[in-house]
Amino acid sequence: MQVPLLDLKAQYATIKDEVARAIADVCESQMLCLGPAVKEFEEQVAAYCGCKYALGVSSGTDALLVSLMALGIKPGDEVITSPFTFFATAGCVARLGAKPVFVDIDPDSYNIDAKLIEEKLTERTRAIIPVHLFGQVAQMEPIMEIAQRRNLAVIEDAAQAIGATQDGVKCGNFGDLACFSFYPTKNLGGFGDGGLVTTNDKELFESARLLRTHGENPRYFYKVVGGNFRLDAIQGAVLGVKLKYLDSWNEKRRENAALYDSIFAGSLVKAPKIESNNVSTYHQYTIAVPERDRLQKFLAENGISTAVFYPKPLHLQDCFAELGYRQGDFPVAERVSSEVLSLPVYPELKREQIEYVANMVLKFYG
Ligand SMILES: *Cc1c(COP(=O)(O)O)cnc(C)c1O
Repeated sequence: MQVPLLDLKAQYATIKDEVARAIADVCESQMLCLGPAVKEFEEQVAAYCGCKYALGVSSGTDALLVSLMALGIKPGDEVITSPFTFFATAGCVARLGAKPVFVDIDPDSYNIDAKLIEEKLTERTRAIIPVHLFGQVAQMEPIMEIAQRRNLAVIEDAAQAIGATQDGVKCGNFGDLACFSFYPTKNLGGFGDGGLVTTNDKELFESARLLRTHGENPRYFYKVVGGNFRLDAIQGAVLGVKLKYLDSWNEKRRENAALYDSIFAGSLVKAPKIESNNVSTYHQYTIAVPERDRLQKFLAENGISTAVFYPKPLHLQDCFAELGYRQGDFPVAERVSSEVLSLPVYPELKREQIEYVANMVLKFYG
């Protein structure tokens, strides 16, 4: 049996006609950058997340960049984040000349360990970027408590978590700003790159909106130095179609995860641990296992695609050498990066495929 990690064609087949009509409308309008299709999508996402403002941008990476710029993060500032995340989270901080300051992760949720944040704060700390990794919201109450007490901004990196909740509240509402990605492999994926910023703060929204188009207002007059962070109209149109299905797709992922959980129960496979106040979007279903690399090879030999998110924590990446971190600085992130393996969990998987994958994993360990 073949089981891919993700099957975008299977999902496309279910919405093909609707997507074609939405794209055709954009083609007819010839309003191709931002425009009404993006505006409508922004309103739909704001309503979906229960946020006051949503701003469509060119990618999840640019959502992070524009959020940091809107907060005025500048060279010399320090920004706290997780070393166990996609590169962009810390890359955007460094691109602004600010310093990513890493904090180790919780061994069960793989999200930033809020208990360890305080000891990393200095008088240069300006912001915290918790990442809702694999679709599970980071524990926001202790993070917001520190942020409020120390007057720090909080940006949620919700690139993997659109639709996830904590204590019944959707992510995108906890921090000052939140960043979403519509890269095609994300739970809500466009037909190319795309991203979005949510906020409930009018001033931050206005700043981010200005920065999205070079800081221009009015036309050819520049208030601040921004960039081209526009979302294409075709992406807005496609995403608007797909947003209607997001909850049902996320629900399917949770059902798939529950099936894996039941098969792995009592085995040496460590299944994802979702905290009781969280509802995950299972962007990834990530297990932790001994002999991870050998297991991955065994699964590949049996037709099963898997992936390692992420094989090397960010504090050990060459590009951050000058930050001065070493092996051993973040023992949990380092250990976890050698143990994790993400299994196929996409909504269109068949029950037999999940059972096949899970049983192959168990078979490997005899
Ligand atoms: C995907 C992702 C991003 C970046 O999004 P792009 O749309 O690919 O630029 C940022 N952070 C995390 C955690 C991600 O998973």
